[in-house]
Amino acid sequence: MSKTDSSLFLHFLGNGAAFNPAFGNTSAYIQDEKRLFLLDCGETVFSRLTDQHILNSSQDIYAAVSHLHCDHAGSLGSLILYCYYGLHSPMTLVIPDNCDQYVKQIMSLLRFMGVSDDKYHLLSAEQLNFFKPFTSFSYIPTRHDPSMFCFSFTFDTPAGGVFYSADTSETDQLDSFLKAHPDPEALYMEATDEDYPGNIHLYLDKLTGFLDPSLRTRTYLMHFNRPSCAEKGRAAGFRIAIPDLVRC
Ligand SMILES: [Zn+2]
Ligand SMILES: [Zn+2]
Repeated sequence: MSKTDSSLFLHFLGNGAAFNPAFGNTSAYIQDEKRLFLLDCGETVFSRLTDQHILNSSQDIYAAVSHLHCDHAGSLGSLILYCYYGLHSPMTLVIPDNCDQYVKQIMSLLRFMGVSDDKYHLLSAEQLNFFKPFTSFSYIPTRHDPSMFCFSFTFDTPAGGVFYSADTSETDQLDSFLKAHPDPEALYMEATDEDYPGNIHLYLDKLTGFLDPSLRTRTYLMHFNRPSCAEKGRAAGFRIAIPDLVRC
């Protein structure tokens, strides 16, 4: 790992794509004293949280879910039930402000997993303003899998703002973010080195062409389909979102 790949704003649990479980599902978190805010909760996330003893050092756990593909929501039910029964502190699901349909889908999915509505709290994203590292958090609709709701995330921060693409196939939302945040603190972008018609992921060369070299040095690539994608990204001047080492 290159020292310059260290990410200050987010800690990563994994940086892999859906069919690259060896890298762990792409997911990140912010810790603010005893509060934890998790971005996405795919199939490998709950085990990584427990392996690294992250949950037991947190009192209040919040989670936002970018979309319902298994590599982003696959262990959400286990996390919620563990918070309820194991930690005796129900988790808070942070939801978009203007997409009731998506919230209904998450709640329905959880019910099918045996997670009833009383096992967790809901909190609108605009109300998540009490974490010290950021002043506001938002869900931004994006284009990924056209059959489902998909979102990127943005943070307003004292150092210029943070963009987290989650899964996307386009740079439009990043473009809008950069117009409002021309000197961002950090950008976290998914990238794939596979290019084919109908690609639902963001082709690395497309991102490279969009971002000036000065912005690539504060852009952390994630959601790798294979190791060669990270190598190509680093060669193009990007940083890599590296998961933290296991904490024992
Ligand atoms: Zn994914
Ligand atoms: Zn996806």
